[in-house]
Amino acid sequence: MTADMLIGVDIGGTKTAAAWVSQEGRVGPVVSTPTPAADGPNAVLETVVSLVQSLLGDPSDREEGRKRHAVALGVGTAGLVDVTTGVVVGANDTFPGWVGTPVGEVLANRLRLPVHVENDVDAHAAGEAWVGAAAGASSALVVAVGTGVGCSLVLGGKPLRGAHSGAGEIGHMPCALAAGLMCPCGRPGHLEALASGPAVHREYLRRGGNPESQDAPSVLAQMRNGDAIASGVVRDAAVALGQAVAGLITALDPQIVVVGGGFALADETWWGWLEEELRRQLIAPLATVPIRRSELGGAAPIVGAAAGARRLVNGGQG
Ligand SMILES: [Zn+2]
Repeated sequence: MTADMLIGVDIGGTKTAAAWVSQEGRVGPVVSTPTPAADGPNAVLETVVSLVQSLLGDPSDREEGRKRHAVALGVGTAGLVDVTTGVVVGANDTFPGWVGTPVGEVLANRLRLPVHVENDVDAHAAGEAWVGAAAGASSALVVAVGTGVGCSLVLGGKPLRGAHSGAGEIGHMPCALAAGLMCPCGRPGHLEALASGPAVHREYLRRGGNPESQDAPSVLAQMRNGDAIASGVVRDAAVALGQAVAGLITALDPQIVVVGGGFALADETWWGWLEEELRRQLIAPLATVPIRRSELGGAAPIVGAAAGARRLVNGGQG
């Protein structure tokens, strides 16, 4: 027996991961390899091709006792993507040369499959909306906090892209608590200058925290050991995000809010401060909106990218 299936790929700053995904959103074993982002677009795309070929080379689904047949490929990638063309239209310094890369066209030619390409936060959100924490919701605001800060508004299972493929770039919204702090985009006072994992670590050192601290997880560890500078920085980061998300909820009134990403799920205290600030800001009719943790973890962008590929083969716009 053969089953028509999708393949989902997640191109992240450090690693690229891929897996078979069923038409019901069930994800198979994930294969991954480091992303050679610094080596340029061709190296990144070759990495995707070999990962996908390794999946295509092993089509037997032992769990279900059937053979898998790939009908489409979905790709979530760091950077902004024009989903109508599959071309990258925005990227940061981690991916030199990525802007302008026709990811969809190159992969479709190499792999002979219909290809859907989207931003990785959009893919993460689409995955949570399909079979994760926001499954069944007609509208979901999905916020991701890790090395950056982003979000996606998913309406009827499909992320809102925006007129310039930039919807959800909330890391670059003005943020009062980040006044004077430099954002990775080169402008001061944006949310991402305070609320991302790397920003928390940077701000901890700037405020005179333990100079031996290496990263955001170590700042969280210092906080749990009673370090007042660490707890002040983490609290400010959580409050800043809470204010931003409260603003988005007020503007959009989503049915559910999902928060995920490496930094978001690392600490309960951070979560408490975030939710407290958010609830404090919301007017009564909006104050009961459910705030949930993302459920799919690292597989979310793979599943969400596959959801876009599924729409593509079903005749819709990915
Ligand atoms: Zn910025």
